[in-house]
Amino acid sequence: AAARVLTSGMRLPPLPTIRDLVKLYKLQAMKQLSQNFLMDERLTDKIVKSAGRIDPRDVVLEVGPGPGGITRSILRRQPQRLMLVEKDPRFTETLELLRECAQPLEIQVDIYHADILRFNIEQHLPDTTQRVHLIGNLPFSISTRLLINWYADLAARRGAFRRNDTCMTLTFQKEVAERICAQLGSEQRCRLSVMSQIWTEPVMKFIIPGKAFVPKPKVDVGVVKLIPLKRPKTDLPFELVERVVRHIFNMRQKYCRRGFSTLFPPDGREEATQMLFHQADVQDTLRPFELSVDECLRLAHVYADYAAANPEVASYDYRAQKIAID
Ligand code: SAM
Repeated sequence: AAARVLTSGMRLPPLPTIRDLVKLYKLQAMKQLSQNFLMDERLTDKIVKSAGRIDPRDVVLEVGPGPGGITRSILRRQPQRLMLVEKDPRFTETLELLRECAQPLEIQVDIYHADILRFNIEQHLPDTTQRVHLIGNLPFSISTRLLINWYADLAARRGAFRRNDTCMTLTFQKEVAERICAQLGSEQRCRLSVMSQIWTEPVMKFIIPGKAFVPKPKVDVGVVKLIPLKRPKTDLPFELVERVVRHIFNMRQKYCRRGFSTLFPPDGREEATQMLFHQADVQDTLRPFELSVDECLRLAHVYADYAAANPEVASYDYRAQKIAID
């Protein structure tokens, strides 16, 4: 281990190029799995560099390694352990090849044929003394869902987030990446911006043009690093915050009181809404995208207290009621 080199330039033993491997093993991207591969080493290196410093004792979990382009860039940074979670078993052989290459570098590579949305990190990583980095170029639909799951874990300090320094470096459709990072006043400000900024500081790192992927997706891609806040902006339960923010943003173009009011049963809805906006000291005629994270959280706090005192409010489900009426 003393011979470990800490630069990002560590060479791997000679390997066929990703392009050749894809051909050799007939690993054509499958449309139904939204697979788009990155073949350009400079770009995969840049993604991994965005994750920041990787120390020799750190663990990296890569989601969706596919044929292993980003994986190679991670190996060159020499973490102690690399966990690869890939749903498509066709990639196992090429990932095994990388595992062999990593042996002389003393990097432990574990390959899991699994769905990241069901993957139990604590089971495979019981130790919390090591820092974890989460890195992935996933299909767009999965990365947004995964992000929300990870915020829930972050809020509860579980899974990959038992320590408070687990960063996520992920790719998103460019517009989604912009929404995640959108500050107050920005046109792209939405529910995902608020949810992201309650528990993390999202940083837009760079844009990858669609044409860099094989096959080429219709859109460009944004690489976002999400740094967990040392002190999250709330300690309210994730589910409660998610519910309040979702309701507020449900009617994006209306005054924010409209969406918020649907948290309450019709009987007494207007009075409760008016009272809670007053208590939270938030102007009820702002549009949802004009609300700061703090204002959303003040509304979540007063709602939490009110729901605790009024069980019929806590159990009220606007959508279920609406469907029943429709
Ligand atoms: N990382 C590779 C690259 O950058 O070239 C592949 C990227 S491709 C866009 C997404 C990869 O994620 C595919 O290999 C796909 O099989 C995998 N994948 C999709 N859904 C997944 C899931 N739920 N869990 C784990 N892997 C998944």
